[in-house]
Amino acid sequence: MAFDGKITDTQKAISEFGIQDIGEIVDSLKGDLLHPYLERGLMFGHTDATKIFDAIKKKISFAVMTGIKPTGQYHIGSLITCNEVLYFQSLGGKVYFCVADMESYLHSGTSLEEGHNTAIDNVADILALGLDYKNSYIYKQSEQKDVLKLAVLFTKNITYNMIKAIYGEQAFGAYQSALIQAGDILLPQLKQYEGPCLTVTPVGLEQAPHARLTRDLARKQLFREHYGFKMPSFTFHQILGSLDGGDKMSKSAGHSFMLTLSETSKSLKKKIALVFTGGRETKQEQLELGGRPDICRVFDLYRFFFMNREDELKKRQKECKTGKILCGECKQDLFSRACKFIEKHQTKKESKFDLAKQILEE
Ligand code: SF4
Repeated sequence: MAFDGKITDTQKAISEFGIQDIGEIVDSLKGDLLHPYLERGLMFGHTDATKIFDAIKKKISFAVMTGIKPTGQYHIGSLITCNEVLYFQSLGGKVYFCVADMESYLHSGTSLEEGHNTAIDNVADILALGLDYKNSYIYKQSEQKDVLKLAVLFTKNITYNMIKAIYGEQAFGAYQSALIQAGDILLPQLKQYEGPCLTVTPVGLEQAPHARLTRDLARKQLFREHYGFKMPSFTFHQILGSLDGGDKMSKSAGHSFMLTLSETSKSLKKKIALVFTGGRETKQEQLELGGRPDICRVFDLYRFFFMNREDELKKRQKECKTGKILCGECKQDLFSRACKFIEKHQTKKESKFDLAKQILEE
């Protein structure tokens, strides 16, 4: 979703945006309740999400809000959020999935027609990844009148100075887009949907300003009185860096720096060969000093997607640090795992296109 600014300093974001450490919640979870992202510190922070985990334990209903901008093929950065959404869904959350076609238009100039076709492809991806559409509400922003209505109502309580302080000097559409996104997050709380209800929105750290804006709007007396909004909760995950070692993997960074779920084995091989590693200058040096998994994008891909077992990940980290494995072999292993995952995904996705089309055109 929309924010274009970059936040790379976790500590600064935590203090500036009031993000809480998720450690205490993690300590209270066991078994299936503990997602590997929580265990690995990839989902590292939250705003007011203790009540969501309490609701899960007490089997109280809640909604999970998420979305995608239909501007291109589903990429692996979006898979992080999808994994979190599936996790919350498996624990009883009803998913609200927004196709952010208005945001795509306002930010990237993608026409609504073009966005629609891309959205079918993107929705086929999330269905193939395991979204239970029967316990979800999937919609396009441009056709969701209640979201657009909320976005207009919110303008009553936002001054130019307030919004400029958050997003800087922008075209008006970018501000509008932020308010539409706040409408998406609060939609499940309207009484004709689930509301007022508990909601959680898993996001990357760069979305912290949006989270704050939405909570500020939800607490405005006018909206509280009118809609009885409960304060929305958020969880925050680390951002996956671009394959070349840059700060963030995003569609705007260009296709060569990110993996999509539509890679062929040939393109995958080419991209993995170019991934930035924490390897040393020479083989000898690496054998003696070991690699640096902490700065390695290959290791990041393992941490986020391709090594679910904790003992296996720890073993690889140790092998890397002690020079027992070299980057060539490590990349070959990554290629095999990613290839298997993507091939399987593409087969499943093929069978989901009709359903995706039906959902979006109903
Ligand atoms: Fe990265 Fe693997 Fe090389 Fe270690 S061995 S630096 S984890 S690619």
